[in-house]
Amino acid sequence: MENLNLLHMLKKPKKTRKKKSIDPCPICREELHLGDKFTQRIGLLDDFNEIIGWICPHCDSEFNDDNHLVKIKGSTGESGEA
Ligand SMILES: [Zn+2]
Repeated sequence: MENLNLLHMLKKPKKTRKKKSIDPCPICREELHLGDKFTQRIGLLDDFNEIIGWICPHCDSEFNDDNHLVKIKGSTGESGEA
């Protein structure tokens, strides 16, 4: 009954430390949470100091204040290039 032996060897693999991201970037999944009141997001302000969006410091993706992706690193989001 070799199968039984095999089953025995299928012990649970080492638990990969599952670090739960509290506030992950939707693109790169890096943690953006920094503290109770802070995030690692880079805020984007308009001329009136209104927050209009933010940039992920990890992947440079740009989002508007609805957390909608505006720009992925290296791409302008504009169509035109085939
Ligand atoms: Zn990111």
